[in-house]
Amino acid sequence: VRHPNTPTSFYKEMWNTLLSKKEWRGEIKNLAKNGDIYWIYAIITPILKNSEIIGFTSIKSNITNKKHIEELSITDDLTKIYNRYYFFNIFNQQLEKLKSDKTIFSLIMFDLDHFKNVNDAYGHDVGDYVLNETCRVVEKDLRENDTFARIGGEEFLILLPNTNIEDAFYIAQRIRQNIEQHKFKDIPKLTISLGVAEANEPILSTELLKKVDLALYKAKKEGRNRVIAFKN
Ligand code: GH3
Ligand code: MG
Ligand code: MG
Repeated sequence: VRHPNTPTSFYKEMWNTLLSKKEWRGEIKNLAKNGDIYWIYAIITPILKNSEIIGFTSIKSNITNKKHIEELSITDDLTKIYNRYYFFNIFNQQLEKLKSDKTIFSLIMFDLDHFKNVNDAYGHDVGDYVLNETCRVVEKDLRENDTFARIGGEEFLILLPNTNIEDAFYIAQRIRQNIEQHKFKDIPKLTISLGVAEANEPILSTELLKKVDLALYKAKKEGRNRVIAFKN
């Protein structure tokens, strides 16, 4: 029943707890025989006899529905990436971390170029397809810990933890090129403009967003299909 995406370290931690004679509680992702994912909340307790473990008791409840609703509440309906609610959650956590740890992160904000023309020429459904397909192309260049979210209609933000502005700029350039080279069915040429900014010391969320927004604005003004990094 073990789901292949659950890391071995998860089970290791569970067994470490149990074998040290402590109770373990947690949510476990499982795989049914038919391939469906289901979630279990389990409380597992070692049974001791003369302080030796002689067995375990386990109380389980199926929390698949709760998990499904949780997932819906943080997912953008059209593109299936994160929504703005989830993004700002992670963003605020990262901003908090800047106050105590010596840490760093970067933001990439991007917006489709002349997207209104796509809708006007091909219709809203094709526009939706382009938004969706754009996300599939962009996520190829992202890492597991990056948070990629749809913030508005055709505006996106990516939070890259432990990434300085030089590396974020490089990733943004790769994304820009991949979009430019991607074949979106029979639409001739699609491009995006990107802004990049870095946070390396405590900063207000509004200030950091202003920086990345300004960088994106410059990328648009200087001709689109380009990346601009915010310079102090
Ligand atoms: P620019 O290069 O300056 O960004 O030009 P633009 O045409 O992309 O920008 P503008 O803000 O004028 O137009 C954005 C368009 O995005 C208008 C709006 O109808 C479209 N849009 C926003 N959300 C969605 C959506 O969910 N689906 C579709 N198909 N279109 C959307
Ligand atoms: Mg826009
Ligand atoms: Mg646009």
